[in-house]
Formats: sequence, C-alpha cells, structure tokens
Amino acid sequence: MQNVFNLRSIYLAVCPYAGVIVFTSYSSTSYNFEERIMELTGELSGLAAYPGDRFIEVVKKVGFECNLCGKCCTRDFNDHAFLLDDDAERVGGLDRAALVPAPYYELCDPAGTFYVSGYAIRARRDGTCHFLENGRCRVYEQRPRICRIYPYMLHREEDDAGVVDWRQISGLNRHGYYHSEIGDEECGRIWEEVKDYETLFLKQEIAFLEAVKTHFEANGLRHSPMAYDRHMRRFERGGKVKVNVFHKGQFETHTVTKKDY
Ligand code: SF4
Repeated sequence: MQNVFNLRSIYLAVCPYAGVIVFTSYSSTSYNFEERIMELTGELSGLAAYPGDRFIEVVKKVGFECNLCGKCCTRDFNDHAFLLDDDAERVGGLDRAALVPAPYYELCDPAGTFYVSGYAIRARRDGTCHFLENGRCRVYEQRPRICRIYPYMLHREEDDAGVVDWRQISGLNRHGYYHSEIGDEECGRIWEEVKDYETLFLKQEIAFLEAVKTHFEANGLRHSPMAYDRHMRRFERGGKVKVNVFHKGQFETHTVTKKDY
C-alpha cells in the first residue's frame, strides 16, 4: 500500500529494512527543479494517454482477489502508506497521531530543514499499520486512496532487471488469490480509481516542487546535499530533525526522530 518507488505507493515496495526506516543519502550536487518538474509533467501526460483497456486487460488476466492476509498493511511486506492531501485530512481527522511526515525526504536547505511532499500513516514498532487491529483495518470505510486501489497502480518503475516501464500491480504472486473473475463494472471502477490516484499523486508532487522552489528563491535558500547527509546522519543516530511537510499548499513544520518511524 508510489516508490521506491519513489515515495508514492502505499506499502508498494518490499522493504529493505527490518523495523526501521533507512533513508538514502542524497548525493547529487544540485537540484534541478525545472528538470524534475518537466519529468513529472511528462509522466502526467503519459498517464493521461494510457489506454484504459490495456490496464483492464491486466486486471482481468491477473484476477487478483484479496485473501485478507493483512500483509499489505505491514512495513515488512511493503513500505509506507503515502497519503494524498485529502487522505491526510480524513485520516488525520480520525486520529492525528496516525500521521507522520512521509519518509525519504526529498530536499534539505543549508540550515538542515528537510522538505517532503505529504504525510504517511505511522507504523508501529513491529511494522504494522497504526490502523491494523486483529488483522483488520479499523478505518476500512475511510481508508486512504492508496489502500483502496492496492495492489493496483499505474506508474513507471524499474523492474529487477533495470527496465523502466508501466507497472500495474504490486506484490504479484506474494499475496492474495489469482485468476478470479473480475466483472466489467468492477474493472472500470478500479481503472478510474487508479488513474485518479496516480494523477493526484503527480499533481501533488509537482505542486510541492514548485512551492519549495518559490520558498528557496524568496528566502535565498538552496538544496544542500551536504546538509542533507549531515542531518540524516544525526537522524540515524536518534537525533531530532526538522521537516517541512507540504500539505494543502502550505508547509507544516514538524520535529521528528527515528522513533517516529
Ligand atoms: S489504513 Fe487500513 S488498509 Fe490502509 S494500511 Fe492501514 S490497516 Fe491497511
């Protein structure tokens, strides 16, 4: 339940750690906002042009059926559950303590403040979702969009062989039942919800980058890979770090430690 994928999908990728978030070191020398925004805008156009019947063909062929194993709601199986703005509002309204700045902070200014687009659902120390109880979601009717569409997705990702292409399903053959019959109406609903989620995700990411760029320009700041690495090392040692979370067009400042993850 988009990342490792780049931050997006909910628990989409197999988690490489056991019980703790491992943030990767940001080693590029500078950050090219325009280039990244252009890339994402290109993704958006690709998504808009993606044929629904091709996606539905995959859905039907795979025939995924949930077997209530609950694996997708754990960090061991996937990564984190990313929340779009409206998800964060709804889920945060149910339980504010469930929200944590999304991991894998994207940028860091020279003073050591990190920047990330959006929130994620907090996981417990054992890696289970904050809302998982006795193997069931206790906010099922109000669960985030990423949980509603899982295991489906539609974004370009690298496979194990390094080939980047559109991916439509996560965790194939690692959970659930397969080859079940899925009706046309249900396929249409899945397609609409997946396309909607992926579109909103990309738009939120683009808006985030535009906001950071504007903030940096207005305050004479820049992305500092050195500060990123230095403050991430502090975080890894258990120290506090400051994170500006982009939410509904504004930055919300949080101080977090590794224990929050
Ligand atoms: S919100 Fe519910 S469905 Fe989503 S990961 Fe948590 S327990 Fe699972």
